[in-house]
Amino acid sequence: MAKIFCVANQKGGVGKTTTAVNLAAGLAQLNQRVLLIDLDPQGNATMGAGINKADLESSVYQVLLGMSDVKTARKTSETGKFDILPANRELAGAEVEMVELDNREKRLKLALAEVEGEYDFMLIDCPPALSMLTLNGLCAAHGVIIPMQCEYYALEGLSDLVNTIKKVHAKLNTDLKIIGLLRVMFDPRMTLSQQVSAQLEQHFGDKVFKSIIPRNVRLAEAPSYGMPGVVFDPSSKGAQAYIAFGAEMVERIHTL
Ligand code: ADP
Ligand code: MG
Repeated sequence: MAKIFCVANQKGGVGKTTTAVNLAAGLAQLNQRVLLIDLDPQGNATMGAGINKADLESSVYQVLLGMSDVKTARKTSETGKFDILPANRELAGAEVEMVELDNREKRLKLALAEVEGEYDFMLIDCPPALSMLTLNGLCAAHGVIIPMQCEYYALEGLSDLVNTIKKVHAKLNTDLKIIGLLRVMFDPRMTLSQQVSAQLEQHFGDKVFKSIIPRNVRLAEAPSYGMPGVVFDPSSKGAQAYIAFGAEMVERIHTL
């Protein structure tokens, strides 16, 4: 049975999609069977996996609304060697349209059940909000991976997310836990990064992943070629860090 993880942080631009796409490709390189779920109407994970978001017959939107299923809507990323349930702008409408439906928080969970035997990992790239879409991600998952930049305001937003995760755990999904905080876009030359990083370790202990993702321009360039960074330039520091993170995740799921 697949282990399901959300990559979540309600802030935009913190590295969620980069983490989801590169972890998916990194895990695939470690021979793990991966389904990446793009739950952001921006469709950045879809494009980053080399799938044209403008050319989708069905996507996660139709799946959530019960008009399609995962087996029909999924695609294979030829560059990343993983499967993806793609998204595009249509998905923005799901927020409102799901309100009227039964099990509105659990629609993704129910849909994914159909294929959970086919994968080792499912990774959900969440949008930058604590919305109904993110709630569907949190209800479907066993755990949350929180990417964060080591900057002054990073900790401030974290408490809202942690509180949301606690509420979902209490009311909707008792499986849910924080798997870990992932330090991304890390610049070791900055004193502030070092300080915030040390603070994180103090507060969250072994909930902070050992792997640290450096700021690396190759990771930022890769999506414009429709490739995960770990495939675009495997020897780059960013790629190496995401491969190491993949290995850390494989190790961690044995202790869950
Ligand atoms: P989010 O999904 O949280 O909005 P993204 O993953 O899209 O964040 O990242 C925001 C921007 O930062 C993108 O342009 C991305 O290419 C860039 N980026 C993300 N991680 C890194 C990194 N480790 N090094 C350099 N650029 C990065
Ligand atoms: Mg994103």
